[in-house]
Amino acid sequence: MVGQGIGKAAAASGTVKTVTILGATGSIGDSTIDLIQRSPDAYRVVALTAHRNAAKLAAQARLLRPEMVALADPAGYRDLKEALAGTSIRVAAGAEAVCEAASLDAEWVMAAIVGAAGLQPTLTAVRRGAVIALANKECLVCAGSLFMAAVAEHGATLLPVDSEHNAIFQVFDFDQRHKVSRILLTASGGPFRTATREVMAVATPAQAVAHPNWSMGAKISVDSATMMNKGLELIEAYHLFGLAESQIEILIHPQSVIHSMVEYADGSVLAQLGTPDMRTPIAFTLGWPARLDAPAARLDLAALKSLSFEAPDHDRFPALRLARTALQEGKSAPTILNAANEVSVARFLEGEIGFLEIAARVEETLARMPSRAVTTLDDVIAIDAEARRVAISGRRVGKSIGAAAE
Ligand code: NAD
Ligand code: MG
Repeated sequence: MVGQGIGKAAAASGTVKTVTILGATGSIGDSTIDLIQRSPDAYRVVALTAHRNAAKLAAQARLLRPEMVALADPAGYRDLKEALAGTSIRVAAGAEAVCEAASLDAEWVMAAIVGAAGLQPTLTAVRRGAVIALANKECLVCAGSLFMAAVAEHGATLLPVDSEHNAIFQVFDFDQRHKVSRILLTASGGPFRTATREVMAVATPAQAVAHPNWSMGAKISVDSATMMNKGLELIEAYHLFGLAESQIEILIHPQSVIHSMVEYADGSVLAQLGTPDMRTPIAFTLGWPARLDAPAARLDLAALKSLSFEAPDHDRFPALRLARTALQEGKSAPTILNAANEVSVARFLEGEIGFLEIAARVEETLARMPSRAVTTLDDVIAIDAEARRVAISGRRVGKSIGAAAE
């Protein structure tokens, strides 16, 4: 059953918790380390991993003294090794080294690598039955059913970190799942919530990553601007909570105070609220099932005065429609959606394509690739790779037909 294994393990209390952070040098990694440093005696860090920032990973390692550090990009190995000379910390590099770090015996693993690159390392931790604090939503978008099956098979525990899913987890009655009528997934609307398509057409990377409420990595910030983030989160929620796609609604809530809501059959709507600070949902997963102290600013509703809501605009934000359609189609569509989005966001950030081209390229890639069954991890890897190639090489379908007629 989809959703099995979510929130399953009971944490040992009163002992030092062993932790690993995959994606330690990113925004979620920073927030996780901030929390760990506030109670250094409560944790022992087993492994830290990063993509290519050797200097930052080395500084984190000197502070937290893990057994092992791993860089995904082998080019940084020498720098990392030199920076950690004289310590007993094992240094490794390459994609396999990141998986090896995930395989070491830590009870709690923060899965905070961005993108499908996080799939194999996170699955490595799942397969040894760890408690997984899941920030990496792309895992569930590109391989949702396989990922959830692995969680159930290996007795792993999945705790959602994404603020919306963490909110839902906190108010979701897993014993009366059949009495949940809807999930209301809230979205800030991002930096272009009120912008016209004309304005978005000329949006720069700097404008797109300037999120009004949250401070996050570049990729998720662009996803928030296109609203693909909420599309990815729709698919994430579908796999985590085992509801029908039609039971998950998206609601724009510009203040990012209500992090999401669950509606029950009796009409009750339960919500989780808080200031927008990822340290709150991360702390929830770090202490679970106990609650920790976390340093986020307290909510002052009287000062805020009002909370507002609006329906999403699918015409200005086509990514929302693309993600929902991909979820309805199933099979390879979500894997293609995710891969095409990742490469298109990267190209936008490098100034190679315009902001509106991101969703257009995703749509075009979905149209150009036939739907296929996804039954193994190898299927996911092959489809992901092909979608990246198609998305990079692709011309707009409409344009190429038009060009041929000219
Ligand atoms: P980020 O870009 O700040 O950090 C990403 C981390 O992944 C870095 O440590 C980087 O070194 C590592 N990484 C990148 N490419 C890699 C590769 N190929 N192999 C191995 N490691 C690699 O991103 P972030 O904002 O911290 O987000 C991380 C994940 O958490 C994303 O999936 C994002 O959607 C999700 N998330 C983030 C937030 C947030 O507030 N930042 C909120 C909800 C969910
Ligand atoms: Mg979110």
